[in-house]
Amino acid sequence: MTVDQRPAAPLVQDMLTLPRKTADGARVNLIGLTRPQLRDALIAAGTPTGQAKMREAQVWQWLYHWGVRDFAAMSNLSKDYRALLARHFDIRLPEVVSRQISADGTRKYLLRISGGHEVEAVYIPEESRGTLCISSQVGCTLTCSFCHTGTQKLVRNLTAGEIVGQVMVARDDLGEWPVPGAPKNETRLISNVVLMGMGEPLYNFDNVRDAMRVVMDGEGLSLSRRRITLSTSGVVPEIARTAEEIGCLLAVSFHATTDDVRDRLVPINKRWNIATLLAALRDYPRLSNSERITFEYVMLKGVNDSDDDARRLVQLIRGIPAKINLIPFNEWPAAPYERSDWARIEAFADIIFKAGYASPIRTPRGEDIMAACGQLKSATERARKSRAEIAAETAADGGAG
Ligand code: SAH
Ligand code: SF4
Repeated sequence: MTVDQRPAAPLVQDMLTLPRKTADGARVNLIGLTRPQLRDALIAAGTPTGQAKMREAQVWQWLYHWGVRDFAAMSNLSKDYRALLARHFDIRLPEVVSRQISADGTRKYLLRISGGHEVEAVYIPEESRGTLCISSQVGCTLTCSFCHTGTQKLVRNLTAGEIVGQVMVARDDLGEWPVPGAPKNETRLISNVVLMGMGEPLYNFDNVRDAMRVVMDGEGLSLSRRRITLSTSGVVPEIARTAEEIGCLLAVSFHATTDDVRDRLVPINKRWNIATLLAALRDYPRLSNSERITFEYVMLKGVNDSDDDARRLVQLIRGIPAKINLIPFNEWPAAPYERSDWARIEAFADIIFKAGYASPIRTPRGEDIMAACGQLKSATERARKSRAEIAAETAADGGAG
């Protein structure tokens, strides 16, 4: 079956009519549980321990390979067992509040999660591949001065279920679940996932890790770890764990070549400065030429875009297998910066390229629907919370929501 012959994508309106909540709200959501958590939950619901491994494998496949949302459709389970599952569990995804489609095909989803919070996810189609950009928090506790999300006050960590749920909702919208009996599609619509939406993923480490373990599992969504990129502003103590416990590719929001400028652009630099960050990156356990670190560098007119900056940048990262991704600044209302001129960006890229680094300039996508990097910000705003408060709430909420 070619891509064009696939069944038409379900309409967002259709998806909204699917049940998303139970009346009593007490059932455990299966989405986002890791395999061991799923097995424990099945045992706690009355699955005999001797059968738990088999049941876990069956349910997992229904959820993540076939994308089934109804226990009644799990046809290789007995009627009684399906009823037991329905009594104890839910299959709950974030609710699609709206979907905007850009002239360039980029799709932006506004999703509602429990508590009425909203986050965004963005799908960027490319030739023979597609990238889904997902969020890890509602808003962000950090305040990078060029980032729209950084101006959003309300914050809570997303649960693992809400992070996996973004991938599943996008698959629903794109009609990408396998059809029983039909040959496998060669090209995946969502071939890559980047944690570059709202939030700092390394401040929600455990949930991001668990969610990525679900997404990477070969019996389900089956996205290889090399097709997942986590972007961090530089949370140094969690960088080594990212390689060890997730194993995905790493991108770092570098953005400046002196501590003075980086302090202003990426304030976390005051805690872990450029030298400390680079030392952690040099030690990144997976570092090799085939798994280079991406240095993200936003191009801000007159702030960080001089030839001297370009030369300092290559000097600083010397010895680190790296590529440098230049991001033309994406403007947002009342942003305090301007995008560097195109000629300046090209001159900067040229210096980096001549020093031996790949220096792709990221084409802005979905600008007409404010879907580009750093433009995501939901309308809900309340008091800013501290990281300690968020961590306490997340612990109280427990794993998947
Ligand atoms: N919090 C993480 C991931 C989300 S931001 C991080 O900071 O890395 C994803 C990327 O977009 C980061 O490199 C971020 O610095 C960049 N970004 C933020 N605002 C931007 C803007 N207005 N224009 C261009 N890039 C921006
Ligand atoms: Fe948060 Fe990343 Fe935006 Fe900084 S750039 S405010 S870390 S989302």
